[in-house]
Amino acid sequence: MSTFYTFTNVTTRKPHGCAYCHRPIAVGAKAEMSSGRFDGQFFRSYLHDACARAAHHGDYEDGLPMAGELLVEEYLSEYREAGVLDQVKAFWPTIEEDAAN
Ligand SMILES: [Zn+2]
Repeated sequence: MSTFYTFTNVTTRKPHGCAYCHRPIAVGAKAEMSSGRFDGQFFRSYLHDACARAAHHGDYEDGLPMAGELLVEEYLSEYREAGVLDQVKAFWPTIEEDAAN
């Protein structure tokens, strides 16, 4: 049984949950889509751009970090750049406060 795995950078057209921090990924945000086959099962998952970078750079060596902490600032600037901040606030109304703390 072959196993394969690829990832690509996408701009989401539907809301997805992040496989890394489990927070929602807003429509129109940059994300990394992973897909492949493992043990005969196809899978597809999405990560926030910031989470993907953290995952690839091994920032999680001390355990899964920072979803509610350091990265919030990064989400906030990514959402601002993508112009989807208002949409994000609908499900995460305290994002700006969270980033400031
Ligand atoms: Zn995430």
